[in-house]
Amino acid sequence: MDANEYYARKDRLVWDALVAYGEREGVRVREKDNALAMKLAYYSAFMFIWNKDFMQRYLVAGFGTVYVPRKFWATQGGWQRLAHEFVHHRDHQRTGKVWAVLEYGFPQIIAVLGLLGFLGLAYWPLWFLFLLVPLFLIPIFPAMGRIERELRAYAMSLAVLDISLRDFGHGEVDLRPVARDYVNVLLGNGYFWPGLLLSKKYKEEMAGRLHAAFKALTPENDPILAEVVKALVEARKL
Ligand SMILES: [Zn+2]
Repeated sequence: MDANEYYARKDRLVWDALVAYGEREGVRVREKDNALAMKLAYYSAFMFIWNKDFMQRYLVAGFGTVYVPRKFWATQGGWQRLAHEFVHHRDHQRTGKVWAVLEYGFPQIIAVLGLLGFLGLAYWPLWFLFLLVPLFLIPIFPAMGRIERELRAYAMSLAVLDISLRDFGHGEVDLRPVARDYVNVLLGNGYFWPGLLLSKKYKEEMAGRLHAAFKALTPENDPILAEVVKALVEARKL
């Protein structure tokens, strides 16, 4: 078996272990590229304007399903991202779906009131203003619910990255710069700029908090990580 073959098999093994774990926890893993729900989300949120590569770039978790772009299927990038999405699923289960949508969607979710209000436009034309509210709230109000949920999920991303590096034979690698990168990603367009007005100092604190959260995650206290480690150990026997 050559190296490529070994890594492909290993990735398949970890992928399958995580997918099986997901199914036990009530979350399906589906291909995103042709999923109707994802296409609807893409077009209804006008992402072809501000988030063009939504269909190919991100995994998306919601309503008991994780949608995975084909190119990540059973790859290392894929299982690392899957572990991240499972944290979102765990959060959804913990808080309930309704609260998850409200918390994750705030403040943009207020625009939905405006859309509903269109129905009552004849009675109260000012309903229309609810559509404008989020435009003003986006820069003023950080989407703290979304940020906190992403920080928990990115702590898992760091933990899985750490495990991969160790599996490759690297020892202790300082992942603080990666934590900073992740904070920048989660404050960007992929998450609809949830913290435009946050100070540099605050962002630095966020990166520190993310790093600490990752350090607190271990295979002993987190079943998702435990699955990954178990599969990696299995892979060594290939
Ligand atoms: Zn996420």
